[in-house]
Amino acid sequence: MRRLHGPSWRARADEGPGRLREHALTTTAALTSVAAAVLHRARPPAHSPARRGSATRLGEATRRNSAPQRRGATRRGSATRPAWTIGRGSTARPAWTIGRGSTARLGSGSRLRSVAGRGWALPGGLRGTPGGVALAGGAVWGLLTVRFAVQRIRPGRTAGEIAKMAVTSAVIPPAAVRHRIRGVVLHGRARPWAGPRVVLFDRDDTLIRDVPYNGDPALVEPMPGARRALDRLRRHGVRIGVVSNQSGVAKGRITAGDVRRVNARVEELLGRIDVWEFCPHDGGDGCGCRKPAPGMIERAARRLGALPSDIAVIGDIGRDVEAAAAAGARGILVPTARTLPAEIAVAVETAPTLRAAVDLVLGGRRRR
Ligand SMILES: [Mg+2]
Ligand SMILES: [Zn+2]
Repeated sequence: MRRLHGPSWRARADEGPGRLREHALTTTAALTSVAAAVLHRARPPAHSPARRGSATRLGEATRRNSAPQRRGATRRGSATRPAWTIGRGSTARPAWTIGRGSTARLGSGSRLRSVAGRGWALPGGLRGTPGGVALAGGAVWGLLTVRFAVQRIRPGRTAGEIAKMAVTSAVIPPAAVRHRIRGVVLHGRARPWAGPRVVLFDRDDTLIRDVPYNGDPALVEPMPGARRALDRLRRHGVRIGVVSNQSGVAKGRITAGDVRRVNARVEELLGRIDVWEFCPHDGGDGCGCRKPAPGMIERAARRLGALPSDIAVIGDIGRDVEAAAAAGARGILVPTARTLPAEIAVAVETAPTLRAAVDLVLGGRRRR
């Protein structure tokens, strides 16, 4: 959303404020808890008598609760082990127990706060230590996760659905925070999308009147409204290109140099064109550039650093808009007297004039 609509995407999508703050708090609590627990384990155990005392108390509680941890403690079985066990215990066990306990009893916000209050009342010796922080962080995480789950689980859910909601409630906050950070890092400077950045025009009978196999710059005559249409796009910061089939080169009727001279005259009359592409091949040559193949549009896109989704192609016959579709770009047909009715019938978008086609491009809406 940010890549497409820029920083104000919420307003543009008419989207509410979301839960990011809560998710960030939940994730911060979990990370703080884990970090503090790691720190707690890394510390040499029990420098202060007070901490050892409470540690032992908690360690005993943990051992009562958890058989695997009891085995671990026994196996290692040294005098310093209880402190290590507390590290484990305070990381996950007590916090989890508090979280679980409040699941059943949670009814209202005030209830939640009273439970939270109890969670914050740490054993005296643990207060201010990494173990205490781990315990507190774990408690906050547990409470916020439970609250989130309770908010999501509506009455009438089956047990399976509730279990799924409980698990996803723990997964969603860190996932949401990670997603947002990634979005801001990758697309922090994205500008709001404002329609195609590039418009590629067919040349003959779209920008200039078609003089078959014309190699003479003096015969170039702009189509009505062409200059104004291009200038309007330029004012909107849209880049302009021309993609033109010139099979006269393959047929030997004109040279590539003739095409370039005619193109230079087009620029004299219609203003700067950012990118020119023409196909010198004939229908039977099997090239990838002759419209309706997408080659010229793809090349122009690469040269301008644009994606197909940034591009609109405006032309007077079916091939022009078919090439656009083949490239993944938007195609707008501006028919002339020589455009076949069948081509008009199947076109996704048509406009009666160049001016109307530019309206479509700048308005960003799709209309037949
Ligand atoms: Mg044409
Ligand atoms: Zn070609």
